[in-house]
Amino acid sequence: MDCLFCRIVAGTIPAKRIHDDEHCLGFFDINPQAPTHALFIPKRHLATVNDATAEDRLLLGHLAYAASRFAQAQGFADAGYRLVMNCNADGGQTVFHVHLHLLAGRRLTWPPG
Ligand code: AMP
Ligand code: ZN
Repeated sequence: MDCLFCRIVAGTIPAKRIHDDEHCLGFFDINPQAPTHALFIPKRHLATVNDATAEDRLLLGHLAYAASRFAQAQGFADAGYRLVMNCNADGGQTVFHVHLHLLAGRRLTWPPG
């Protein structure tokens, strides 16, 4: 298993976990780009969103749902936040295990760089 995020799921690499259910793990990003920066990942390895099959549709929605629950629990849902999934080189993806970024706690600019 040479995937960093699979290792975090397995617990062999530590992470500050914020969400854990049957299908999805949430943890804080090690290099935060906002006051709150978390990642929500499927527990099952999926390299990029391009690799999703029809069976993965619920799983991908599950990540956004878990992130929105966290935003509400933390109290910044109404102020706002951003969910981002980078894909491959032009998208800026560096870890090839699907992850949904949640960025919150400051006014984010648009368009992103
Ligand atoms: P991306 O560029 O979309 O692939 O995002 C990968 C993210 O994973 C980056 O924001 C990294 O800071 C984050 N990251 C890399 N290694 C770790 C780690 N061990 N624990 C938590 N986040 C990590
Ligand atoms: Zn993986």
